[in-house]
Amino acid sequence: MVLSPVLGKLASKRVVLASASPRRREILTNVGLRFEVVPSWFKETLEKSSFATPYEYAVETAKQKALEVANRMHMKHLRTPDVVIGADTIVSVDEQILEKPVDKQDAYRMLSRLNGKEHSVFTGVAIIHCRSQDNQLQTEITDFYEETKVKFSDLSEELLWEYIHSGEPMDKAGGYGIQALGGMLVEYVHGDFLNVVGFPLNHFCKKLAELYYPPPKHNVQHKKYDSVPSVDTFENQSEGEIESSNFAEHTGARKSDSSGMCSSATHNSKSSSSVRTGFKVPLGNQNGVSESAAKLPSKILELMDGFRASKALFVASKLKMFDLLKDKGPLKAVDIANQVGTSVCGTERLLDACAALGLLEKTSQGYSNTDSANTYLTSEGECSLHSFIIHSDDHLWPLFTNLESAVKEGSRQNHLAFGKKAEDLFKDYYHSQDVKQRFMAAMHSIARLTARDVATAFDLSQFKSACDLGGCTGALAHELIQMYPNLKVTVFDLPEVIANTSYFQPSGQHATPVTFVSGDFFKDNLPEADLYILSRVLHDWPDEKIHVLLSKISAVCKPGSALLVAEIVLDEKKTHPPRAVLQSLSMTEGKQRSGSEYKELLEKYGFTNVQIKITGNLLDAVLCFKKNLSLP
Ligand code: SAM
Repeated sequence: MVLSPVLGKLASKRVVLASASPRRREILTNVGLRFEVVPSWFKETLEKSSFATPYEYAVETAKQKALEVANRMHMKHLRTPDVVIGADTIVSVDEQILEKPVDKQDAYRMLSRLNGKEHSVFTGVAIIHCRSQDNQLQTEITDFYEETKVKFSDLSEELLWEYIHSGEPMDKAGGYGIQALGGMLVEYVHGDFLNVVGFPLNHFCKKLAELYYPPPKHNVQHKKYDSVPSVDTFENQSEGEIESSNFAEHTGARKSDSSGMCSSATHNSKSSSSVRTGFKVPLGNQNGVSESAAKLPSKILELMDGFRASKALFVASKLKMFDLLKDKGPLKAVDIANQVGTSVCGTERLLDACAALGLLEKTSQGYSNTDSANTYLTSEGECSLHSFIIHSDDHLWPLFTNLESAVKEGSRQNHLAFGKKAEDLFKDYYHSQDVKQRFMAAMHSIARLTARDVATAFDLSQFKSACDLGGCTGALAHELIQMYPNLKVTVFDLPEVIANTSYFQPSGQHATPVTFVSGDFFKDNLPEADLYILSRVLHDWPDEKIHVLLSKISAVCKPGSALLVAEIVLDEKKTHPPRAVLQSLSMTEGKQRSGSEYKELLEKYGFTNVQIKITGNLLDAVLCFKKNLSLP
């Protein structure tokens, strides 16, 4: 079956899984889909009796879960995702819907009802395509369900209780998990096994095929809702059809790759009717996706080409092509080459590469920016990543070019990359005004994108004063004041940085301006505050330095004061998110940590009540409180 071409269609999109289920995450990760996880806050409280069938309930719940995430992401930071996937798995027996048990007795009731009988497992899935138009959220919803029949053996009371005491039933629909101990209860499964685990992968791929490779109209045979289209639907397309078929053209709703993630805050959710028609295309040999293409390891190919894609982005950014196209696009390659001062043939190749990567659109009028390029790749915008891209090209690229020797030696290869040995990480950045400005601008661009989510990850309104240690340009500090107008915020950073902050201050007056204080957080006294912040600081330093810093913070923190850490929090296997894992290859002396490692570290320095918030943004947040020494 041709899976990779359909999943490949999602590769350039910002895909979000609106589910906290590790099983769904694993199923989708295993097939190479790249996505963020933003668990839905939608409570599974729909009135079951108002649905004619159990699967309608599961589909509606999946839809509501996905819509909640799409709306929240759009509203919160206007980081509108391209695709949100929601799913809800239920077990149905004797016309009754069983969800997750609330306690052991409930688990017992559920398992007793399933004992010795056949039941149905339904997973409802919603695939929501989103876009932001005039700051309004537009959605196109496709939904479906999958049913699998499962039969339990005749099981003794003891066995049921033993299973319940294992703890496994508690977060699982119907009170069992077929992929682990619960598999022992099952006599047979008819249908898609993964559907019982929590995600009907096969049907999902077929649905994507319908969306992204719609069959030619004359071949469409409408089928009733319950019929699942054959996957042949996308194996039998002519090249032209494949080229021109994307979600946009299929639904008539999307013009281009336009994540429009960063704009203003209003939203209006409009749902289309669900796509419920199946298609079947006769077999033929005009395959747009050939048999051999089906076997290609798309993920590996993508990684092999990744460096070319990065460099194309870096060079187009450095030449400020996205700025030019924002102001004057659409433009022909020759006009861009003339304005930028580059060769026409080289420019044309670069522009075509950017179009292939989804950064530009190419029409008969010439090249123009996608919405995403306008928002993130121009140098001036509020959400601009331009400075970080330049930092990546000038600083990280040479370091990664020497990754092999960095891995062999286990250290950063500054001498190979820049012709001189690394001193203190930041002294390297601050030795020249240009490099310092570039580094601060890079930090500023990421901080501006993440600040709102970090500032609102927890309710910080109880604090009167905050000190952002290593707060750099003050981007987070300004956001904190926006969110908590009564908070007095101090940014504490090295003198070289503080002397350079004026360039980065927002225009317009704030009622409470940020205070900038210069000093060295390893040596100098720290300003007083009841909330200390370390954003992207801990991962850079070795344990000895962290010991000095956290001991100092702990010593000045009064009981009840807090420390907010903003970092990427790794999962417990420390392989996710890949961005953080790859960042580790920069080979600073520090390291990225998992949630339990942050907890252990912070508790070691007298902090308690460690709470972790995975924000779905580029930085997560960890809040902890200084222990009251009179408490045990
Ligand atoms: N907190 C900012 C953010 O999240 O965007 C900046 C993070 S940057 C990776 C680390 C910051 O720590 C830099 O601004 C750097 O100047 C500051 N820093 C490094 N060593 C320091 C020290 N000894 N004392 C105070 N600040 C320091």
